[in-house]
Amino acid sequence: MFDAIVIGGGLSGAVFAHHFSKSGKVLILEKADRLGGAIHTVRPFGGAFFAELGAHTIYNSYLALIRIIDELFPASSVIANKSRGYLIKAGGSFYSIASQLSLWGLARGALRLPFCTKDAKSVREYYSIFGKNYERVILPALSAIICQDASEIAADIIMKRRSAKRTDYPRSFTLTGGISALIEKIAAQDNITVNLSTAAEKAIKTDNGYTVITSLGEEIRAERLVIAVDALEAAKLLEWAGDIPKILNSIPASNSRALLFAAKKVDYTFPLFGYIISRDGDFRGAVSRDQTADDEYRAAALHFLDGEDNIYDAFSKLKPLLQIAPEADIFTQTERFCLPRLFTGHVERMKKVEELLKGIKNLHLLGNYFGGLSMQDCAARAADEAERAINAKRGFNV
Ligand SMILES: Cc1cc2nc3c(=O)[nH]c(=O)nc-3n(C[C@H](O)[C@H](O)[C@H](O)COP(=O)(O)OP(=O)(O)OC[C@H]3O[C@@H](n4cnc5c(N)ncnc54)[C@H](O)[C@@H]3O)c2cc1C
Repeated sequence: MFDAIVIGGGLSGAVFAHHFSKSGKVLILEKADRLGGAIHTVRPFGGAFFAELGAHTIYNSYLALIRIIDELFPASSVIANKSRGYLIKAGGSFYSIASQLSLWGLARGALRLPFCTKDAKSVREYYSIFGKNYERVILPALSAIICQDASEIAADIIMKRRSAKRTDYPRSFTLTGGISALIEKIAAQDNITVNLSTAAEKAIKTDNGYTVITSLGEEIRAERLVIAVDALEAAKLLEWAGDIPKILNSIPASNSRALLFAAKKVDYTFPLFGYIISRDGDFRGAVSRDQTADDEYRAAALHFLDGEDNIYDAFSKLKPLLQIAPEADIFTQTERFCLPRLFTGHVERMKKVEELLKGIKNLHLLGNYFGGLSMQDCAARAADEAERAINAKRGFNV
């Protein structure tokens, strides 16, 4: 018998399970055949070399993640990212970011900045103060970072300033084995059971808890239910929860596709880089793995525009530009991702959801559509909810 069922084995579900497992038994139901969701480390050659198909960068301001890393990893597992250049691709050529910026626009924006707030403004409304830098650099960069057109996204939800930092960690870093190593270590702990390839199809509220019906036809019961999936899926599972599903259904989603390629260094000779932002419309961004050096291999993940289907064709066209030898043996893997589009007014909508949740006992709703898309936002909410669950279990009034 489990004390909590967690639906969704991405970062949000895993972080909740990590904390809650210290006081009870947790079952994670994950519909895919792997844990991690948007976190997907690939180890293409069977050795220590890894590359990220999904989320790639942890910062030393990600305190909720670092708290778990402190508990589960020795300091030697933390690998600092080397600082590598950011490039812009335009008209088929590559440029440094600095060369694409208008100093006049930057100076004018900097003067206006103290009088501007991000409150209730979209990215376009807020960052347009930087003149043509907005279209040339800021919008393509933000769109690449959040894998979707950023222009109408709430400005206060992306690029958050986080002043608290763990200065004993590198500014940005990964872990030995990649970011999925974090999820794997969490899942391997006592009190956590994982059922992969098992979707929750229905969640029913009963007098003394919840029953979840899975795609395998099982009926699993627990006192506590944690829903850590995307907003639309959560709405389906919560069809009985008053106005909550209506609000969740109003959060649009954006699909994107990624293609990871990895090759021997001799076969992929493009100069080392950190990130490429494309203004050419062929892909949004390329995240390099050059920030953590390897003697033998290199890799990068190309993130494509929503609905781009022929990503292998697009990759073939990019090969000469990326200086990939035509006859080289290249490892590739693709993945489809889905992220919420958090428009202005989103924070207020989620406050309403929080209010409604207070009336439903032992239910926790997590995910990247609450405080923001970043791993820190997801982990912070999951940690807070786990604390609330543990306090409730101990009989404290929460
Ligand atoms: C390509 C990409 C790059 C990113 N890069 C960064 C980065 O560098 N830094 C950063 O901070 N953030 C980054 N992010 C954002 C961040 O990684 C995500 O927002 C975060 O990991 C989401 O975690 P989650 O658990 O809330 O959701 P998800 O990762 O989406 O996990 C939800 C899980 O629920 C499962 N599921 C869905 N429905 C069901 C069901 N009915 N039953 C069972 N399981 C179900 C899904 O299969 C999935 O595994 C990136 C995101 C993407 C897509």
